[in-house]
Amino acid sequence: MPPKAAKSKEAPAERPILGRFSSHLKIGIVGLPNVGKSTLFNTLTKLSIPAENFPFCTIEPNEARVHVPDERFEWLLQLYKPKSEVSAFLEIHDIAGLVRGAHEGQGLGNNFLSHIRAVDGIFHVLRAFEDPDIIHVDDSVDPVRDLEVISAELRLKDLEFMERRIEDVEKSMKRSNDKQLKVEHELCLRVKASLEEGKDVRLVEWKAADIEILNTFQLLSAKPVVYLVNMNEKDYQRKKNKFLPKIHAWVQEHGGETIIPVSCALEKNLADMSLDENVKYCAENKVKCWQIRRQTKAPQAAGTIHTDFEKGFICAEVMKFEDLKELGSEAAVKAAGKYRQEGKTYVVVDGDIIFFKFNVSGGGKK
Ligand code: GDP
Repeated sequence: MPPKAAKSKEAPAERPILGRFSSHLKIGIVGLPNVGKSTLFNTLTKLSIPAENFPFCTIEPNEARVHVPDERFEWLLQLYKPKSEVSAFLEIHDIAGLVRGAHEGQGLGNNFLSHIRAVDGIFHVLRAFEDPDIIHVDDSVDPVRDLEVISAELRLKDLEFMERRIEDVEKSMKRSNDKQLKVEHELCLRVKASLEEGKDVRLVEWKAADIEILNTFQLLSAKPVVYLVNMNEKDYQRKKNKFLPKIHAWVQEHGGETIIPVSCALEKNLADMSLDENVKYCAENKVKCWQIRRQTKAPQAAGTIHTDFEKGFICAEVMKFEDLKELGSEAAVKAAGKYRQEGKTYVVVDGDIIFFKFNVSGGGKK
């Protein structure tokens, strides 16, 4: 049956989005104990903008502010040479105390709440490193179980909030006939039902009018999440970790938000080194992320690494970061037929992992 004609011919209004953005983005780092949150936070603090650059506000010990690099801003600074240079920054809060049962007062109980309510988004740190010396609160390393624990805790907290809200609205409804109360009450019941079904608020389709009310609640499961998968340096360098495919599958089933593999221990070591040591270390350990412009063809991309790579370019063997992440190893990417050989005209795209073959002197190097 053909769909019915739309009731209204008006152009669709811009949809409101979940969240209450202020003047800058605030992110909260969450995760179970001993997953690497503090290591990450301390590293970010080292890189942070000194507190004296923000004379009119207090920066708490669990708060760091880091620059958001932006080439356009750098260019404008060169042009205008302003007296004060205030770049965009990201405010990061270390939120400790989330454990199984936190919503009922386990661990630090509800202390984490006041911090997490105020953030715009969440960095969810997952432990994907094994180390018998570092205990896991649940005795074994299982990041998918941890994902379930943390996301359930946040939903349970939201559920508790909604139950209180429903009671308050019902009390007000006894005293007043305000239509808006009815609207809010009806929405609260829907939010409660979807939380009880195990759905995060941000993953439900809401109408624009719903979102306006939802944004007054600051629900935890309404906040966007980036998953930071903390792995050992070795796994990070070889881009292989046994937990990653399962984490990826879970995230795809639960909203498909961004996953970023990190090695908190490696980042900490790098932040502790001087710039020279840092450059030397990266060169020796081949942690390399080359930057090229959009539309760059394979030989020129190779040339950014070494001019010989461009002169003697033979071909590029390419796989996509996403495929490697999903499948877990180079061998698996090859087996899935997603490891391609590309020639001189291939345009490199963001996220390509490339092995360049080249030959300058007829010696058959690669
Ligand atoms: P938090 O409780 O989540 O804040 O965890 P911490 O950042 O305090 O880390 C707990 C312990 O794990 C510390 O001893 C860290 O040095 C260690 N750690 C963090 N990341 C890694 C890692 O990638 N590999 C190993 N082996 N240990 C790590």
